[in-house]
Amino acid sequence: MMFKSHVALGFLVGLAVTQLIPLSYPIVFIALVTVFSGMPDLDAINSKWANKLWFIAKPIHFIFGHRGFFHSIFPAIGLFLVFYGLGFGYLGLVIFFGWVAHLLGDCVSKEGVAFFYPFSQYRVQGPMRVNSFMESIVFLLLVALDVFYTLKIFQII
Ligand SMILES: [Zn+2]
Repeated sequence: MMFKSHVALGFLVGLAVTQLIPLSYPIVFIALVTVFSGMPDLDAINSKWANKLWFIAKPIHFIFGHRGFFHSIFPAIGLFLVFYGLGFGYLGLVIFFGWVAHLLGDCVSKEGVAFFYPFSQYRVQGPMRVNSFMESIVFLLLVALDVFYTLKIFQII
């Protein structure tokens, strides 16, 4: 999934979480989940996150490869526990849900996601090719849902 699609999906997931869990500063939470939903692509060579934070991304790619451990559920749980343990539970939740949003986006693509790697190699895969016509449709749909639910939740419509 492309960066812009991850952003659109991250926003939607952030929005959904604020409706399920009573969180302080919901708008901040949604914004941060949107930003952090790109984080798992630190393991890619040419993602937005990897290009900006190359000094972190290069070792991560070298150690984990692309769409291996770093695209599993375990870093999300681990980082949540670390931040929660340090007293930054809010940031932990941001990273956790950003990560989950990212994996949900990637698992509709052909490459798929192995949620429990390295314990299970099973990949959840979908029909979508990255940067295809289908992804453009999915992106537009996500943006439409973002706008609709933002207007609805903030009682503008
Ligand atoms: Zn990814």
